[in-house]
Amino acid sequence: MIADFTYAGSPARIVFGGNAAERVAEWLDKLGLERALVLSTPHQEADARALAARLGARAAGVFAGAKMHTPVEVTEAAVAQVQALGADCVVALGGGSTTGLGKAIAYRTDLTQIVVPTTYAGSEATPILGQTEGGRKTTLRDPKVLPELVIYDPELSLGLPVGMTVTSGLNAIAHAAEGLYAQDRNPIASLMAAEGMRALHRALPALVRDPGEREGRSEALYGAWLCGSVLGSVGMALHHKLCHTLGGSFDLPHAETHAVMLPHTIGYNAEAVPELLAPVGEIFGGSPGAALHDFARGLGAPRSLAELGLAAGDLDKAAEIAVEAPYWNPRPIDRAAIRALLQDAWEGNRPQH
Ligand code: NAD
Repeated sequence: MIADFTYAGSPARIVFGGNAAERVAEWLDKLGLERALVLSTPHQEADARALAARLGARAAGVFAGAKMHTPVEVTEAAVAQVQALGADCVVALGGGSTTGLGKAIAYRTDLTQIVVPTTYAGSEATPILGQTEGGRKTTLRDPKVLPELVIYDPELSLGLPVGMTVTSGLNAIAHAAEGLYAQDRNPIASLMAAEGMRALHRALPALVRDPGEREGRSEALYGAWLCGSVLGSVGMALHHKLCHTLGGSFDLPHAETHAVMLPHTIGYNAEAVPELLAPVGEIFGGSPGAALHDFARGLGAPRSLAELGLAAGDLDKAAEIAVEAPYWNPRPIDRAAIRALLQDAWEGNRPQH
C-alpha cells in the first residue's frame, strides 16, 4: 500500500548538456537579463573570467571571492559589487561554496540566479542557504534562495580532482540515502534517490580509474542532480546534523566529512528502518552501512575523522552538540549511542549494519 504523502515539484529549470557558456548566453537572452555578475572561488577565477568573456556585454563583471560556508562579510562585499555594477542577475560557476554565495546574494536582493555546477554537492537544487557569521553557521530555507536555472555541463567537471570527485560524490549519495527515510519522504523523492545513487555507484569507480572519462562525468553529474533534488525536497536527519556540527564547530572540510560519516550514520539508522534503506543495500551490495563503507574504501575516500584532523578530545563535545537540539530521526538520538558512533567514525571502523 502507498502511504499518504505530499509532493511539491521544484519550480527550477534544469538544462543538461554541453557548451555551458553558449547556453548561459542563450538563457540570459531568453530571460531578458542583460548584466550578469559571474561568481567563483579564487581557485576558479580564470574559468569565471573565461565565461564572462564568452558572455561579452551580457557580463557586468566577475566576483571571485566565494568561500566555503558563505561568510556574511563576503556576501556583503559581493552585494556591494552587484549594486555598483548594476547587475540584474548572478551566474555562479563552481561548487557548493560559489552556489552558496549566489543564493546569499539572491536572498538579499531577489536577483535571478543561474548556476553552473562543477562539483556534485547538489546545493543548486535546494532552497537551503547556510551562512556563517562570527564563527557560527546558521541555515535557512526560503523559496527566494532556490536558483531559477541550473545548467549542467559534464565537461566542466573533467578537472575536478579525483579526491574531490569521490568525496563530493559521497556527499551526493548522503542526500539520497537520508531522503529514503525522511519523515516527509514521498515516492518521487525516493525514485530520484535510488536512481541518483545508482548513477553514482556506476560512475565513481570509473572516474577513479580515469577522471577524464566523459561518460562517467556525465553520469555522475546526472546522479548529483537527482541526489541534490532529494535534499531540496525532503527533510534530512542524523547524518546531515552530525556533518553540520562537525563542519560548523570543528571546521572540518564539508565533502570529506560527509564521506567519512556516511557509513556510520546510515548504519545507525539501518538498525531502525532496514526496509526503508533496502535500496542502499541493493545498490551497494550488503548491509547499508557496511556496503557504503566498502564502496568508499574501494574509491580511496578518507576513512576516519582522525584523518580529517579531529582531536579525540573533541568527540565528547561533538556528541553533546549533536544531541543538544531535538530533531527528527528514524532511530532515537541517544547520547551514548551517538558518542559510540562518533568513536567508530573517528577510528574508521566498518559498521555492522
Ligand atoms: P566547494 O564549492 O567549496 O569547492 C571546493 C574547491 O574545489 C574550491 O576551491 C572550488 O573552486 C574547487 N572546484 C570546484 N569545482 C572544481 C572543478 N570542477 N575543478 C577544479 N576545482 C574545482 O566544495 P563543495 O563541496 O561543492 O561545496 C561545499 C559547500 O557547499 C559547503 O559550504 C556546504 O555547506 C555547501 N552546500 C550547501 C548545500 C545547500 O543545499 N545549501 C548543499 C551542499 C553543499
